Amino acid sequence: MKIGVLKERAPGERRVALVPGVVATLSATGAEVLVETGAGAPANFPDSAYDAQGARLVSRAEICREADAIVCVGPPDGLEPRRGQLLVGLLRPHERAEQLRAWAQAGATVVSLDLLPRTLSRAQTMDALTSQATVVGYKAVLVAANAYGGYFPMLVTAAGTVRPASVLVLGAGVAGLQGMGTARRLGAVVTGYDVRPDARDEVRSVGARFLDLPGGPNGGGAGGYARELTDEERETQQQALRTAIGDADVVITTAGLPGHKPPVLVTEEAIKKMRPGSVVVDTAAGPLGGNVALSKPDTATVVDGVTIIGAGNLAAAQSAAASTAYARNIQATLAQLCPGGQPRIDLTDEIQDAIVVAHEGELRHEC
Ligand code: NAD
Repeated sequence: MKIGVLKERAPGERRVALVPGVVATLSATGAEVLVETGAGAPANFPDSAYDAQGARLVSRAEICREADAIVCVGPPDGLEPRRGQLLVGLLRPHERAEQLRAWAQAGATVVSLDLLPRTLSRAQTMDALTSQATVVGYKAVLVAANAYGGYFPMLVTAAGTVRPASVLVLGAGVAGLQGMGTARRLGAVVTGYDVRPDARDEVRSVGARFLDLPGGPNGGGAGGYARELTDEERETQQQALRTAIGDADVVITTAGLPGHKPPVLVTEEAIKKMRPGSVVVDTAAGPLGGNVALSKPDTATVVDGVTIIGAGNLAAAQSAAASTAYARNIQATLAQLCPGGQPRIDLTDEIQDAIVVAHEGELRHEC
């Protein structure tokens, strides 16, 4: 089987779908790996490193022509896959309905790891959302600490005692919990909040305090995800969060709802309650909006002394770690979809049924 690795072209994207170490493993199983020239460079994997592991460095056109399976990180623009070709990535089907329809019509088999069931243990090695969110949570804390003018830990020095920073993390999924653990390790006093009932124990397990709002966390939904709150619930939540946001030195938001706009948790009024010098990092800031009313994607804005950082693709900012983990997810996915070294789709399998968006001309999921 020929596996083609595309160079990512989206602005700010520095990840690559396969790293040289994983190319070596795939080559050892008999696959031939074609890598678009320069694909790994932004993540510090030069062409020579792929070449040394047996990959062939080629043009994008050659990959499209020759590969049986094409792998990528984000949705590739301008790609015209051919009939039977397998395309695997984080393809954001809810935002890219038209593109998916075109790929389905072309007869490609399109697999989007955004749709992977999260609670099946045999799917864990393929879980790219988790591997990338882990990087996001870690990096969000570093970004916040860098922008914050004070210390995270308590310091007792000859020049006086410094109180630790108070960090509030909104959303306690994979990124949020990783952020809480990282901020704790830096010495901050950390509080976490989520609407899923399970989150209370998960937050405590990483050494953070759980922020209990009136009514408790009652926003659990299907598949381990949160449900969309009603307008009334959202209003109550935003108001209840204001005091906690005003008390924090640093707020990190990580709340997501698959296929929906991210919920707004930090309103303009809440930001007005924050002290000058405080920092807000919105990891949900993107084309669909964000968790913070005033955040702008990939931009730092200062409002009344509060720094608001829109940071919707922090995984790309830690590209070597993110790519290495993602490459293992891709390797596991290819092993699942290509038993015996050739694509063989089995839609009776629960995992494949969830992630195969298009197959044999049919668009299988509502986008
Ligand atoms: P996500 O990115 O979709 O959302 C992040 C967090 O935001 C979630 O915890 C969600 O509950 C929360 N959220 C959504 N709306 C909110 C609101 N209005 N207010 C406050 N918080 C809100 O989530 P994720 O990190 O992709 O994780 C999704 C689920 O999958 C979680 O339940 C997680 O524990 C689970 N998971 C399980 C496994 C496993 O069992 N192996 C692995 C990874 C993830």
